[in-house]
Amino acid sequence: MSEENKNIAELTSANQSRPARSEPARPGHAHSGSTQANQSGEAPVSGKVRRMAKRRWMKPVVRKVRVLKETRNAADAAHDHKVGGLKIIHFGGLGEVGRNMSAVQYDDEIVLIDAGVRFPEAGETPGIDFIIPNVEYLADKKDMVKAMFFTHGHLDHIGALPFVREKIGDPDCYAAPLTKAIIAKRMDEFKHLRPLEIHQVEAGEIIKVSDKITVKVLRINHSIPDDLVIAIKTPVGTVMHTSDFKFDDTPVNDKPADIEGLEELSREGVLLLESDSTGAEKEGHSLSEQDITENLRKIIGEATGMLIMGTFASLINRIQQIITISEEFGRKVVFDGYSMKTNVEICKKLGYLKMRQGTQISMDQIDDYPREKVTAVVTGAQGEDNAVLMRIANGEHRHINIRKHDTIVFSSSVIPGNERSVQFLKDQLLRNGAKVTNYQLLDVHAGGHGNKEDLRRMIQLIKPKFFMPIHGQYSMMVNHGQMAEEEGVPESNVIIADNGSIVHLDQENWWMDKAKAPSDYVFVDGLGIGDIGNVVLRDRQILSEDGFIVVITLVDHKTGQVRGSPDIISRGFVYLKDHKDLLMAIRKKIRFIVEHGTAHGKDINDTYLKDEIRNQIGLFLFQKTERRPMVLPVVIEI
Ligand SMILES: [Zn+2]
Ligand SMILES: [Zn+2]
Repeated sequence: MSEENKNIAELTSANQSRPARSEPARPGHAHSGSTQANQSGEAPVSGKVRRMAKRRWMKPVVRKVRVLKETRNAADAAHDHKVGGLKIIHFGGLGEVGRNMSAVQYDDEIVLIDAGVRFPEAGETPGIDFIIPNVEYLADKKDMVKAMFFTHGHLDHIGALPFVREKIGDPDCYAAPLTKAIIAKRMDEFKHLRPLEIHQVEAGEIIKVSDKITVKVLRINHSIPDDLVIAIKTPVGTVMHTSDFKFDDTPVNDKPADIEGLEELSREGVLLLESDSTGAEKEGHSLSEQDITENLRKIIGEATGMLIMGTFASLINRIQQIITISEEFGRKVVFDGYSMKTNVEICKKLGYLKMRQGTQISMDQIDDYPREKVTAVVTGAQGEDNAVLMRIANGEHRHINIRKHDTIVFSSSVIPGNERSVQFLKDQLLRNGAKVTNYQLLDVHAGGHGNKEDLRRMIQLIKPKFFMPIHGQYSMMVNHGQMAEEEGVPESNVIIADNGSIVHLDQENWWMDKAKAPSDYVFVDGLGIGDIGNVVLRDRQILSEDGFIVVITLVDHKTGQVRGSPDIISRGFVYLKDHKDLLMAIRKKIRFIVEHGTAHGKDINDTYLKDEIRNQIGLFLFQKTERRPMVLPVVIEI
């Protein structure tokens, strides 16, 4: 918290010179200045300025943004980097779910694992599409990056690749067939980038990266086929990365995990096990796909009317089950949603989704079949604005209209921040007479990640010397660490690290550098990257919390006096018409600032005047209202 405030303060003084925030945002106050079209409460201003003011900031977003995380001292870091040996650095994915990316470094050779995105929670970062790993650590080490491995095709493991492409040098890239196809499809959307060649690897293969480093990949189970454990052998020892995983002896669409391979790895000795913590707070074993099939069969068997399954395009194995069971009940299957259709096409082509000839129909064919013979598999179970399920619920879908007795099934747990839109979605569907069922196993995090007993089994199998929980919130990592202790890893050998921590390992010890690699968030806004710095984000946050105020002052260039009465426009701040005295006071203040600043026949210095108005009016408004709207001064000389 204090770090955050400090950083906000620094940014503030660098840019807007607003009084530094010294207390957390007051809950709810952002609504108090609710926007009215006629809120300027003031004399007419030029049409251009008015349009400018009106056009922007329609998005009513309220939530505190974590602006910056701790950054390192550059000199320290430069020194640390010269130290050789074995190092592990995570650029994302520790203490959070998503944007997984890490490096295993031995002397001057680096192997990267994954490059994923994280989708921010609603309101967390206004206008930001996603957050990507911070690869600043690699800035002066591009030549050292020898190889990059991808564990599986989920966006939180591959989605950031286009955005870090230019910052990771030219490593040899390796992925299993499905992962490779999904990455290729993603890179296709970024044609301006240098093409990226990916070597296809099969589970069980050994890849020689250099004289010192070899990598072995092993099959493991997840909610998408072709998930790989990555074991990196270095002269110090083997670092094993589990990827997202669960154990499933009866998987759908996939072979069971390569237990023998894992045992062999264990016999050879694993120095460090890095293991997925997503399920570390869930008791027991994760459900086997067989159990899930039974549940789904019940739901699909009992469904009346058209069956609409809202799920995630990433859950390939779940989609396979829906197809197979729909076939059992004589239902045709139709897919909708961009990511859903893309993934289905890729998987069909590579043989990862199997269906009978004639099972899949296109949207314009659905009226050719009785409603109770159609299953639609669509995106949007989290109430996303433009996704298919929302369009169906709003009656805006071109082909699917909800009728009485139709059945809609979607994930029962809602990603925080989406509650309201999911509620709206449900209500809207019910209004149309549909039946709505919740089913947790259509969740993105259900089913694909091992629960406690699976995680325990991995530790028992591998018997690592050191253990490092990865992928998950801090509490999940800590829980996972405790389990490792219960399984015999000494407490002092359990490594709980942060993004940016530089962890050194030798055969007997591990230690962390005092300085960290940069780990500030990197935001992607549309297709731009990094152009949305913390400053822009903070601006958005201020605008959403406290609004803005535009002050337009006409200054007589001969006399340096204010001409007429300064125009004041605000949005999202306070309703100025109800605050005449505040308006008067602001005007008086401006007149004082200007006439003071231009006194004694000084030339009018535009920048100086604007800064003064911004600072002093900002401070003044804070004293009067305890709010900090953004102050935009306009000085016009006449
Ligand atoms: Zn995954
Ligand atoms: Zn993941």
